Amino acid sequence: MGGTFDPIHHGHLVAASEVADLFDLEEVVFVPTGQPYQKGGAVSDVEDRYLMTVIATASNPRFHVSRADIDRTGPTYTVDTLRDLAAVYGPDTELFFITGADALARILSWKDALEMLSLAHFVGVTRPGFELSDAHLPADTVTLVEVPAMAISSSDCRNRVGSGKPVWYLVPDGVVQYIAKRRLYRPAGDVGRV
Ligand code: ATP
Ligand code: MG
Repeated sequence: MGGTFDPIHHGHLVAASEVADLFDLEEVVFVPTGQPYQKGGAVSDVEDRYLMTVIATASNPRFHVSRADIDRTGPTYTVDTLRDLAAVYGPDTELFFITGADALARILSWKDALEMLSLAHFVGVTRPGFELSDAHLPADTVTLVEVPAMAISSSDCRNRVGSGKPVWYLVPDGVVQYIAKRRLYRPAGDVGRV
């Protein structure tokens, strides 16, 4: 599952858990992006996003975090992520790419879309506020899955922290504490509170 994870929240985690259960996946690998090319420059430091992803997933034995996109220089493209994971896991491993309805809708605009679709089976999950459709992808390349509705976004979490509102129960407890410790998402000079 690729994402900016700025910060990782319970919408990401529920989606990953549901898809892992449905497809009986051995592992879910969370892959924080390097500098996402479709999101401009206003993204938190990669090491903060990586550490929050590690904190959020540490207690689940099936969840792992990959630095593939962080350690590759240049903008992040999912086709490169999948090439790298395929090389690490080898030809006997079947890869799935988990994506929310909003991201799936744009997938044909992603770099080398056809090669990307040949490298993994895509799983599109429901997300409140977005319509889930197969984005005109060939039927054997994508499965649509309904997951418990979590009306949570990283943008909303950032805005909440920025205006002094709580993010408890939207993100894992350790991520709430990490955000406070590193003073993420606060206007300059605002010391804030947990
Ligand atoms: P932002 O608001 O910064 O875009 P986000 O909440 O959309 O953050 P991303 O890191 O952009 O999180 O998303 C990573 C992946 O997780 C995408 O495929 C996205 O569609 C999916 N996703 C994010 N939030 C949810 C959610 N609440 N339910 C289901 N899927 C989600
Ligand atoms: Mg998003």
